[in-house]
Amino acid sequence: MSYYKVILKPKKEESLLRFHPWIFSGAIQSIDGKPQEGDVVDVYSSDKRFLATGHYQIGSIAVRVLSFTQIEIDNAFWQERIQAAYTMRLALRLAGTEENNTYRLIHGEGDSLPGLIIDIYAGTAVMQAHSVGMHHARHQIADALRAVLGDTIQNIYYKSDTTLPFKANLDNEAGYLYGGEADDTALENGLKFHVDWQKGQKTGFFVDQRDNRSLLEHYAKGRSVLNMFCYTGGFSFYAMRGGAKLVHSVDSSSKAIYLTKQNVELNFPADPRHEAFAEDAFKYLDKMGDQYNLIVLDPPAFAKHKNVLRNALQGYRKLNAIAFEKIQPGGILFTFSCSQVVSRENFRLAVFSAAAQSGRNVRILHQLTQPADHPVNIYHPEGEYLKGLVLYVE
Ligand code: SAH
Repeated sequence: MSYYKVILKPKKEESLLRFHPWIFSGAIQSIDGKPQEGDVVDVYSSDKRFLATGHYQIGSIAVRVLSFTQIEIDNAFWQERIQAAYTMRLALRLAGTEENNTYRLIHGEGDSLPGLIIDIYAGTAVMQAHSVGMHHARHQIADALRAVLGDTIQNIYYKSDTTLPFKANLDNEAGYLYGGEADDTALENGLKFHVDWQKGQKTGFFVDQRDNRSLLEHYAKGRSVLNMFCYTGGFSFYAMRGGAKLVHSVDSSSKAIYLTKQNVELNFPADPRHEAFAEDAFKYLDKMGDQYNLIVLDPPAFAKHKNVLRNALQGYRKLNAIAFEKIQPGGILFTFSCSQVVSRENFRLAVFSAAAQSGRNVRILHQLTQPADHPVNIYHPEGEYLKGLVLYVE
């Protein structure tokens, strides 16, 4: 039980009774005590019924719920949640197989741990906190991880320097909590890649595209592939295994291009089918010819906030319009949006406008999303963020 009590305004408990894990600051009537950001608080309805326990935050989301029953947030709590997540990954055959030692173990709200991400790369767990509460709990979480995963991990790297609220003024936001000096090679569906969890984007690799990369492999045979926004080259090495005729990887970051080349080399040494270019997407797309018949567009989130949504949709439309214009007849386009604020419908509409602009006959072959180790809590639909379309362009 927490010392701090957050009491909601009348009728503001409704979303909590439907297990939505966020409490907005506008729903709060009063607070007993003076919690600091990151403290554990108990939440009550206006008629003093217990509703939830969670981490207190400064901001529009004031509490992120950890439990809807009145329990202690102690070692046993962390261990039980992490065990539940691990059990599911084992059951899905994502963890503990010979082919794959890369998976997301904890996906925030999707695993009932709002504000916490943990990705596993072979013997290393990379932990990322998006809330001060998770930051404070990092050592307890690391202990629980070791208790659940045992010998399967030798290192825990904490990487929260870009994800924690800047104003919270915290220390020790990045570094090893356990181990160190790890081999940075991991395996996804039998393909090898290096992960730079210290300096790379997110936790070092985009684990969420695994299933979509597999689908691309399936269509790659004999095709000329453009992997635009390639980052560390995930789609490229799958395309090569799938028998692509040539694969061109493009990213504006030269570090990403360096990593892509390394990763392709790791799987297909000295294979002349692959080339990589450090260049801006729009520049490359504008000047390229019509040599490609399989194009991947996996841009960074164009909209991080609701107020830039319109611009983001324009961005998706423009980007896809060039691909529709240039892809060969019979070409296949894999196009994605990872912006959480762009809905599935809006994204489809943007791609639809781009297709119409090109005047070509376009069919939707697949509608893609995030994989099973990035589960969406059914009470928190906001957790669905990755959207993709696979299109056949006549
Ligand atoms: N497809 C990748 C993930 C892409 S993340 C994977 O499967 O791992 C988005 C990438 O877009 C980043 O690597 C970033 O460097 C790159 N990027 C951002 N803006 C860009 C631009 N204007 N042109 C080209 N690449 C860009």
